[in-house]
Amino acid sequence: MTANIRFIAPCCCQVAFLSFQLWLTHYLTNCAAVCQGGKPGYCVDPMKTNEPVKTNDSRPWGAHVSAAGGLVSALRRAQAIGATAMQIFARNQRQWRPAPLDEREAAEFRRFWPAAGIRFLCTHASYLCNLASPEQKLRERSQEALIDEIRRADALGAGCVVLHPGAARGAGRQEALERLTDSLRLVLRETDSAPVGVALENTAGQGTALGARIEDLADALAALGREPRLGFCLDTAHAFAAGVDLRRESALHDWLAELAGRDLLDRIWLLHLNDTTAACGSRRDRHVHIGDGEIGDRGFRHLLSCRELWRIPAIIETPKGKTPEQAEFWDRRNLRRLRGFAKANCTRVEGKPDRV
Ligand SMILES: [Zn+2]
Ligand SMILES: [Zn+2]
Repeated sequence: MTANIRFIAPCCCQVAFLSFQLWLTHYLTNCAAVCQGGKPGYCVDPMKTNEPVKTNDSRPWGAHVSAAGGLVSALRRAQAIGATAMQIFARNQRQWRPAPLDEREAAEFRRFWPAAGIRFLCTHASYLCNLASPEQKLRERSQEALIDEIRRADALGAGCVVLHPGAARGAGRQEALERLTDSLRLVLRETDSAPVGVALENTAGQGTALGARIEDLADALAALGREPRLGFCLDTAHAFAAGVDLRRESALHDWLAELAGRDLLDRIWLLHLNDTTAACGSRRDRHVHIGDGEIGDRGFRHLLSCRELWRIPAIIETPKGKTPEQAEFWDRRNLRRLRGFAKANCTRVEGKPDRV
């Protein structure tokens, strides 16, 4: 607010008045809508934004939300579902050459999202990217795209860009992994001034996709000398499809033990909590609403009871339905369900419901 007033002060009265009117209209339509209760000035809750995560339920929770209609619309969607975490596409995920980021819009978004109660923001890189491709041209395009993704995430104030590790496409795993790590090294060097990380996501292992095994993620991190800007995103639907039977407590604990054994737990920056209709080990990626798939309530209850994962922001990427109203309904329903499981664990493990 101060910056706007300072900016318009030196202008002549008419220009200043017009600028003020434009700003006020924009502020009232956008900021007031994204602030809880529509009370600008009261939307920052320092207890909420600065408090360390103490319990299972107090982690940031949210969804991948559409940025159709602009970034402020995405923020409004996140607010409508009570999210404290959000994921967006920062560019058209189906195009190699999307429109450039509107700097003014990005700056506004960066200013508004923390005030709107969002405590964790990440972007998801385009599915076109294949940093492990044996085709040099595709690999170079993917590197350029990821550099752009990181710069956009930086402009928006996002902490990381979620990236699928890519596919070997006929080459061997080792060769593909080397291509991936060489590409990541180049991209991270090119963007070394941006405080944005790359979160490699585990995959279902469809076709020749890397990332179905924890080993792939661990080897990438080791090859990059445990680069601090490289972390991970764990997707439950992908893990299940890759053979981790999250319905069985022992399988979940083995999975977490493997992550701990490879010293990766502190690199898990976010969770993608999705149920799936695909069978365990099927290597197929079919997201469905929480509790309606193969993982089921039982699997998510187990997962959310694991203290190793308590602090980690959780994002859902479940189906949205056909209309914005349906999207809001389902996102609210899925988050409520997950938070319910976490709350139950919180009460049980802690002995008292702390901030739930
Ligand atoms: Zn993904
Ligand atoms: Zn995912």
